[in-house]
Amino acid sequence: MPSYRELLQQTKSEISEIDAASAQGLEGAVWIDVREAEEWQEGHLPGAVHIPRGNLESRIEGVARDKTAPVVLYCASAARSAFAAKTLEELGYEDVYSLVGGFTDWKRNGLEITMPRTLSPEKRTRYSRHLLIPEIGEEGQLKLLDSRILLIGAGGLGSPASLYLAAAGIGTLGIIDADIVDETNLQRQIAHSLDTLGTPKVDSAKRTIEALNPDVEVVPFQERLTSENIDAVLAHGWDVIIDGTDNFPTRYLLNDASVWHDIPVVHGSIYRFEGQVTVFDPANGPCYRCLYPSPPPPELAPSCAEGGVLGVLPGIVGSLQGSEALKLVLGVGESLAGRLLLFDALHTTFDEVAIRKNPDCPVCGEHPTITEYIDYIEFCSRGTVNA
Ligand SMILES: [Zn+2]
Repeated sequence: MPSYRELLQQTKSEISEIDAASAQGLEGAVWIDVREAEEWQEGHLPGAVHIPRGNLESRIEGVARDKTAPVVLYCASAARSAFAAKTLEELGYEDVYSLVGGFTDWKRNGLEITMPRTLSPEKRTRYSRHLLIPEIGEEGQLKLLDSRILLIGAGGLGSPASLYLAAAGIGTLGIIDADIVDETNLQRQIAHSLDTLGTPKVDSAKRTIEALNPDVEVVPFQERLTSENIDAVLAHGWDVIIDGTDNFPTRYLLNDASVWHDIPVVHGSIYRFEGQVTVFDPANGPCYRCLYPSPPPPELAPSCAEGGVLGVLPGIVGSLQGSEALKLVLGVGESLAGRLLLFDALHTTFDEVAIRKNPDCPVCGEHPTITEYIDYIEFCSRGTVNA
């Protein structure tokens, strides 16, 4: 049996080692820190990905898909990284290096290091079920806490979406709604309660969200979205918009603005037992006008009197919108861009139809004909589809 020192020497003779200067010159290299979590917390190389040695085999394919691209491994002093390099070669990686001198020499030579941001112990506890998911982890949770999501409407869809996003630790939630809480809202709008009857919905929602999670900053806009204020509202640097609007004029206004501001919109609508969800991502798929170039004439729009909705339906559709928004912020999974999801609560079915970008779309097409905001005439004062 060889001693540890002999085994290390033998391993080093079988792999490629590289010095810092040469490693920095490698084009398109993936840098992997194989040290333990406590060591990573004390600083790491800029741009490196942290995969502790013990997780290397299981997690490497998620980080380095191309087995021909260079991979630079480092640890504290180039021992663990040498064994790690051997492992990657055995897994078929063709261009693997162990960094000579490791993190210790890198730091000693005055090269740049990054100090990782970390969650406080309280936040680690609060978000522990996110930290356990490899696609989220501490880095993803920090991303959520840094992110900004705007909710159009604090009604049926905005209530569940805002509560789940707040619980998940989205750092800033903007909410725009001009309405006041009334008794007919409480059948489904769970952000509000008897305590907040008669108060503005944005204040009521803010109160509920702050009681749930003080990490979240709520930015209320107690106004209707109009062509006059939409640029100012959207100028707050939102990463994602959740559309819970209850009328066509706002939906078209929001669509055009989101294309021009390049912000993805998670769209939801509900009517009686049926709900629809999709993502209109201007950079990646169709917009609302690709499907419906202009609003229906008022006589064909559903009348206000018919706008009933099953109490729990907005909970399902609004939660799906929240889930899409979280994925967009985290950059994980596959969004509903280009797919319209249809939910039928009466028969409990989900269906999906493909939706495509229309090259002749008046807003996002090749030769746009709409280049400024249009204020369509309101069909009725309250919700036609999903109030
Ligand atoms: Zn379009």
